[in-house]
Amino acid sequence: MTDKQIIYMDHAATTSTGPKVVSAMLPYFTKQYGNPSSIYSIAQKNRAVIEECRMNIAKSLNASSGNVYFTAGGTEADNWALKGCACIHGKGHIITSKIEHHAILHTCDFLCKHGYDITYLDVDENGLIRPDRVMTSIRKDTIMISVMCANNEIGVIEPIKEIGEIARKNNIIFHTDAVQAYGQIPIDVDELNIDMLSASGHKLGGPKGIGFLYIRKGVNVESFIHGGAQEGGNRSGTENVPAIVGLSKAVEESFKTMDERAKHEIELRNYMIEKIMKEIPYVRLNGHRIRRLPNNVNMSFQFVQGEALLVMLDMDGICASAGSACASGSSSPSHVLLAIGLPDDIAYGAVRFTLGFENTISQIDYVVDCLKKHVGKLREMSPQYEDFCKR
Ligand code: PLP
Repeated sequence: MTDKQIIYMDHAATTSTGPKVVSAMLPYFTKQYGNPSSIYSIAQKNRAVIEECRMNIAKSLNASSGNVYFTAGGTEADNWALKGCACIHGKGHIITSKIEHHAILHTCDFLCKHGYDITYLDVDENGLIRPDRVMTSIRKDTIMISVMCANNEIGVIEPIKEIGEIARKNNIIFHTDAVQAYGQIPIDVDELNIDMLSASGHKLGGPKGIGFLYIRKGVNVESFIHGGAQEGGNRSGTENVPAIVGLSKAVEESFKTMDERAKHEIELRNYMIEKIMKEIPYVRLNGHRIRRLPNNVNMSFQFVQGEALLVMLDMDGICASAGSACASGSSSPSHVLLAIGLPDDIAYGAVRFTLGFENTISQIDYVVDCLKKHVGKLREMSPQYEDFCKR
């Protein structure tokens, strides 16, 4: 029996760890396994390796001032940024948006319970945050602004530079969740006025369970995990050296191929959007048409449940996602799709395809053929569609 061929179009959920990344990591499990805090030479070599990786990642952000601190992924980096800043001030007001990942939103809920005041900014119908709304939301006691670089569900790229400028002028710390954007589009923390940035390894061909928080020099943030002196005492715990090496290698590879990959993915993305719009009636593209990540296609299929469509696509070997992977399994419609003003039924009909370098035009042709077939079948079973056709 041969394995069914898989067409993977869920790169925003996670990516496979590339072969070059895996080979870079392997020696650190079996040969060079010393604890970087030990004093003998195989251990000290690992300390030097960690510092090389840190520099490599800082370079990718043009981070001339500040530092990269390794974390166990994007969620931890987001938690640290928000709680670490809140803790320093003891009280105050935080500005964020309604379309952030739950790593930010649920951390804000937690801070709210502990007496912090949170403003959740609206977005327009394309998912864009208006910088003037950021400006008018600032209060005397605002301690932080946290707005994502690019949204995980609809791929919209936010006006980070303008928001960063507003934060800088008002002397407020600006954090961005760049988990989806980092490795996909260039990010220069100085040019974009970013004080703190979260990123994650498994979104860019690195291993899972590793990420980092960039913190600009002079930005005061409370330590997140207390214990030993690792990461300057800010994030204690024996370093995951193989994962750090893997993350650094993945960063190197994804920045090397960024332009070529973006060109390929934009071509595929536009082809897929146009083909779906042309061949399937009653569909809608969610998120800004142009200001979106190169690989993101998020479409709503009216009179269809996105989750049911996903199950049918899975039987054809196609991997995609309804809303965000982290939110799937929940029965309420995506908070992002509601925030852009979609009614519940259209939000429930959304499917997200996130493309990768290895995807091809012929795979898209196959996926759209499958979509056409399944959307047709699901609509045949939909009482709402029947009513609609009778009108
Ligand atoms: N932030 C965004 C925008 C994400 O898309 C994700 C994961 O999907 C996260 C944070 C969490 O990252 P991690 O899976 O590394 O914890």
